Amino acid sequence: MIVLVINCGSSSVKYEAFQTQPEKSLASGLADRVTVNGGRQAVLIHHSPAGDIRHQAEMPTHEVALGYIVEAVTDPDHGVVESLDEIGAVGHRVVHGGEQFSASTVINEEVISAIQQFCELAPLHNPANLEGIHACQKHLPDIPQVAVFDTAFHQTIPRHAFIYGLPYELYQERGIRRYGFHGTSHRYVASRATDILQQRGTAPQDQRVITCHLGNGCSMTAVRGGKSIDTSLGFTPLEGLLMGTRCGDLDPAVVPYLINEMGLSADQVDDLLNQQSGLLGVSGVSSDMRDVSAAAEEGHERAQLALDIFCYRIKKYIGAYAAALGGLDAVVFTAGIGENDPEVRRRSVAGLGYLGLHLNDAATQDVSLDGQPVDISSSDSPARILVIPTAEELMIARDTAAIVEGKAPA
Ligand code: ADP
Repeated sequence: MIVLVINCGSSSVKYEAFQTQPEKSLASGLADRVTVNGGRQAVLIHHSPAGDIRHQAEMPTHEVALGYIVEAVTDPDHGVVESLDEIGAVGHRVVHGGEQFSASTVINEEVISAIQQFCELAPLHNPANLEGIHACQKHLPDIPQVAVFDTAFHQTIPRHAFIYGLPYELYQERGIRRYGFHGTSHRYVASRATDILQQRGTAPQDQRVITCHLGNGCSMTAVRGGKSIDTSLGFTPLEGLLMGTRCGDLDPAVVPYLINEMGLSADQVDDLLNQQSGLLGVSGVSSDMRDVSAAAEEGHERAQLALDIFCYRIKKYIGAYAAALGGLDAVVFTAGIGENDPEVRRRSVAGLGYLGLHLNDAATQDVSLDGQPVDISSSDSPARILVIPTAEELMIARDTAAIVEGKAPA
C-alpha cells in the first residue's frame, strides 16, 4: 500500500509518501510559509529519487498548498503514483487527542469534532492539523484518512502521575492534567529498544526504558513493558526539560509574580515562557543547540550555563524515572540533539554508574546513524545507553496502513 503522511503546522505542510511492503520512503517534501502574508512567499520543496522540485507559488491556505503537493506526488518524473487512486490511505499527525484517543483512529465526523474540541488545549497545533484533514478531504475525497495522536501513547500513564496537585474539579470540569506529547516518537524508539533488550534476554513485559526526545521541543518518558508510565511534558508542551525556547519546570508562583509585580499581561507571560526562555533565554545566544554549544566552547558563560541546565535536567529526570520504573534496562537518546550531540549524551549520563549506566566514551563520540540504533554503553554496562533515530512519519504510515488493512482496531 502507498500511504501519504501529512504533518500540517500553522504555516507549513510536511509530507512523506511510503510504500508499506516492503517498507520504503518514496518521496517527501515541505510547503513552507503557507498563509504567511497571504502565502505570497510560499514555496514547496519536493524530494524524490529522481531529484528535487522547487515550486514557488501563492499558498494563501493549506488547501491550496495541498493542491501543489498532490501535483508533486503525481508528477510524471518526480511523483510516486500515476493516479491518485493508487494512494491507499492518508495518515495525519494530530497533536492533541485528549483522553478520548489512546490509539490511532480512522477519521470520521465524530473524530473531527473531537479534534476540534481539543483545539482549546492545543491552540497552536490542532487547528492546523484540522486544516490538513479538511484539505485532504477536498483533494483526496475517496481515500481513507487516519489520525495518529501525539498524546495517545501516554494514555497509559496512571492517575497518580497525571493528576496535578490542584483542586480535583479542574481536572473533572476543564481537563487540566498531564497529557504528554511526542508520543509517536517515544513509542517508535521504545519499540526498537524492546527488540534490542529482548535479544539480550530481558522479556518485553519486564523492560524498563527511559526515552529522551531532544529536539527543539524536548521530553522524556518512562516506559515499562512497552507502556508509557510517566512523561515530562504536561498539560501543554511546556513542562519538564529545558527546550529551545521553552522554560520547562518552573515554580508556578513565578507567573503571578510576573503579572502582579512586573505588569505583564497573560499573553506576554505565555510568550515569555514559550518563546523567549529555554536555551535562548538563558544563553541569550540562540535556541539552536549547535549555536549554544559553539558559544559555550568559546567560553561564553551564559551559553555554558544553558548547557549545564539542559544536561542537569535530563540527569534529574533519569533519576526520577529510574525510581518510578523500579530500575533501569536502557536509556534512549533521539531527535536532533539526542541523535547528534555526543557532549549532551555524555554529560546527561555522567556519574550514573550507580544506576547501571556506563558510557563507552569513544562510541558516543563516533555515532553515525544510518537509521539503525547504536549502542553507546560499555560492554559490561548493566543497562544499555542507545542512540535511536526517530521515525515519526514511518510510525504514522505503519499505523495508518494497519488500520486501513484491518490489522489494527479502527
Ligand atoms: P524539531 O523538534 O523541530 O523536530 P529536531 O529534532 O530537528 O527539531 O532538533 C533540532 C535541534 O537539534 C536543534 O537544537 C539543533 O541545534 C539540534 N541539532 C541538530 N543537529 C545537531 C548536531 N549535529 N549537534 C548538536 N545539535 C544538533
